[in-house]
Amino acid sequence: MKIEFNKISQNGIDFETKQDGIVFLGTAKKINKNLIKCTGTIEGSFTHCCDRCGDDFIKIIKQNIEIYANNGLYKDDYDYINLIEFFDGFVNFDTMLQSELESFKCDYLYCSQCN
Ligand SMILES: [Zn+2]
Repeated sequence: MKIEFNKISQNGIDFETKQDGIVFLGTAKKINKNLIKCTGTIEGSFTHCCDRCGDDFIKIIKQNIEIYANNGLYKDDYDYINLIEFFDGFVNFDTMLQSELESFKCDYLYCSQCN
């Protein structure tokens, strides 16, 4: 799901996107000319290989997310921890979800027996 930067106002716009059984939904709000703040939740489950015993298990996620989208190269001084730059004039919520999931899966995840 993509929304044009120009269409997102200070009042906010709702978004919802889904990928492999995981839903990312929330509100996108304009902070300044180029910057959009997205607040929402990521919820769902995925199959993961336990980082200790190697067995596949179902990992359930339910997480509040705050992520920023910048229209073009981000040049301001303030360092946002979670910021993605987009260069085609659109906020791509699938890209956001993907990047959140990747960082989530980077952590060591253990099955219920190993946890
Ligand atoms: Zn395990």
